[in-house]
Amino acid sequence: MPAETDLAQGVIAGDRRALARAITLVESARPDHRIRALALVEAARATGRQALRLGLSGTPGVGKSTFIESFGCLLTGQGLRVAVLAVDPSSARTGGSILGDKTRMERLSRDPRAFIRPSPSQTHLGGVARRTREAVALCEAAGFDVVLIETVGVGQSETMVADLCDLFLLLIAPAGGDELQGVKRGIMEMADLILVNKADGDLKPAALRTMADYAGALRLLRRRPQDPPGFPKALCVSALAEDGLRPAWEEMQTLARWRADHGHATARRAAQARRWFEAEVREGLLSVLTRDPGRRALADLGAQVESGALGPETAAARLLALLAAPPSS
Ligand code: GDP
Repeated sequence: MPAETDLAQGVIAGDRRALARAITLVESARPDHRIRALALVEAARATGRQALRLGLSGTPGVGKSTFIESFGCLLTGQGLRVAVLAVDPSSARTGGSILGDKTRMERLSRDPRAFIRPSPSQTHLGGVARRTREAVALCEAAGFDVVLIETVGVGQSETMVADLCDLFLLLIAPAGGDELQGVKRGIMEMADLILVNKADGDLKPAALRTMADYAGALRLLRRRPQDPPGFPKALCVSALAEDGLRPAWEEMQTLARWRADHGHATARRAAQARRWFEAEVREGLLSVLTRDPGRRALADLGAQVESGALGPETAAARLLALLAAPPSS
């Protein structure tokens, strides 16, 4: 136990090595590590410190790393401490991307006010979600002002990140044609700001057109009661030329302040916490079913349902009763 207290104290004192070790602990699936990780995260949450949590999504190549580097440096230049967490459920497949990210965010990774944590090599989205939530809590306890959570625009990881953050940013590239690049309506609805990147050089006219298209599309979405007029917005930026980043940050602050002043920020976090709790319970129940005696019962009862010996409802009720009172053997 003293090790945990030391680690928690190190995190709370803002020691980056302690923070890195603490995140490694929350990433571990070992049951004894889990117990220690939970104590650590509780200690972190007890500090009551909060950061602005920014989610950032976009397809590979859109410029996420470049954006994080420029935007992160803009924030640290203003004296803010910035933590970057990556969520990439496919990182087990693209094992090399971790190194790539670090080298692409070279300036930011050398910045003493920044902390960059690449994605863990985990394929299971539930595990990634939990690890990221806990890592956010640890970064907040370590005194970071902004936590940027980056995800590649694939599958459910966007929904997960949107459910972790205060503001969700969608980075897109200038489109050649007139269609909205197949960005799904659901993702548009999650976005608080759509940032059309690469608005520089030859790409600038296309970026401006794309921005206008998205601004039009956003106007067609129903205005959300938790937003001031004019949001969600589409803006042009150039991560490479470091252009438009300051106005984008101002928009983020305006929206965050408005939501805080109107009680929406607290309500959003409360609703998220409740969903995380329910997701954890679901995960926990599912994991019981992958272990004996749950797994055996699931197989046995399943076979009885198939053979017609038991109705599906009765079999399910028996299984649930078994989980409620597991046999001691
Ligand atoms: P990621 O896969 O989303 O992280 O994208 P990267 O940040 O690695 O960028 C992909 C490519 O787009 C790189 O060659 C970048 O130099 C380029 N890029 C990123 N941002 C900009 C930008 O603002 N303007 C231009 N012209 N190129 C950019």
